[in-house]
Amino acid sequence: MSLSKLNSLYREVILDHADHPHHKHALADATNTMTVKNPTCGDVINLDVALDTNDVITNIGFTGEGCTISQSSASMMSDAVMGKSKDEALKMAKTFSDMVMGKEHDQADLDELDDAAILSSIVSFPARIKCATLAWWALQRALLRDEQGDQTESEGEA
Ligand code: ZN
Repeated sequence: MSLSKLNSLYREVILDHADHPHHKHALADATNTMTVKNPTCGDVINLDVALDTNDVITNIGFTGEGCTISQSSASMMSDAVMGKSKDEALKMAKTFSDMVMGKEHDQADLDELDDAAILSSIVSFPARIKCATLAWWALQRALLRDEQGDQTESEGEA
């Protein structure tokens, strides 16, 4: 994929997150973990989230590999949801997936996403939407997992 169609500032932010990802490490104290894959691109994200007793995300980390967009998105997502409650984080994941599908959203909701909001431009690259949403999907599934009472769910299902 050529990123040349992207606004150059956006491209710089995306590349910076991909080259120097934030929170790219496994957590020793994770309460919720999830592995997701995007087979069309070979992207893999193993997400670790630590929730405290009030369901606030006190720590988050990811490992994995894949294209620039997937890794950059995971870095931005981790930054954006750090310190948020589970409900806030789930709302952000919904906003993100709506945004990359080209649905309208309140500016306030988009601002919540922080750097991740710039991935709205991925809408011009339909083939890469899955790459961008992979990390948010991992987050959604990691956070909802215990509510589903399905701790044994096989990981890496695509
Ligand atoms: Zn990808």
